[in-house]
Amino acid sequence: MARYKGAVCRLCRREGMKLFLKGAKCFTDKCPIEKRNFAPGQHGKDRKAKIVGYGLQLREKQKTKRMYFTLETQFRNYFEKAARKPGVTGELLLQQLERRLDNVIYRLGFATSRRQARQLVRHGHVDVNGRRVDIPSFEVNVGHEIQVREKAKKFTVVEGAREFSSHQPVVAWLEVDRDNLKGRVLSLPKREEIATPVNEQLIVELYSK
Ligand code: SF4
Repeated sequence: MARYKGAVCRLCRREGMKLFLKGAKCFTDKCPIEKRNFAPGQHGKDRKAKIVGYGLQLREKQKTKRMYFTLETQFRNYFEKAARKPGVTGELLLQQLERRLDNVIYRLGFATSRRQARQLVRHGHVDVNGRRVDIPSFEVNVGHEIQVREKAKKFTVVEGAREFSSHQPVVAWLEVDRDNLKGRVLSLPKREEIATPVNEQLIVELYSK
């Protein structure tokens, strides 16, 4: 499957905010946003115009897409699926993004970024209900049990992530057993349980044009 292979910190600089794509580095002063909080490229520093209307909607979509590390087609498909369901489209869109297996691994604190979580899944180090699942976009459901496989429990990145998240509470819709690197989906996430700093209504407006 296609994936973004460029420098991820450029994505944060383009959006003018931390998207937390690099794990622990994002929380240190080595984060490029701390030193160069302007758009990348030759004229990045000069672009200071206030973004309104379409530009604002576009940036919100790009930001969200990049936070969850998805590409345009997949992101659009999430939107179209959400729009077909009864309910609030923006909330359903975010709910689908949250239900991705790579996001769940990140939310459980078994990886320090969604990007790292995605790699764990892709390399076959995660089980769902006792069976290996290596598709990062796999959609978890209520009652699903997610576990890091035995071999991967000793990986430095996994141990580092467990240590990193040990003092952070897990989101309300998930249950975590950090000692055994195991988690369970208690419910589907509601909007107030999704801490992603986005205005999903702007994305709905963009795609509804
Ligand atoms: Fe973004 Fe993290 Fe890079 Fe900072 S270190 S620019 S938050 S990916």
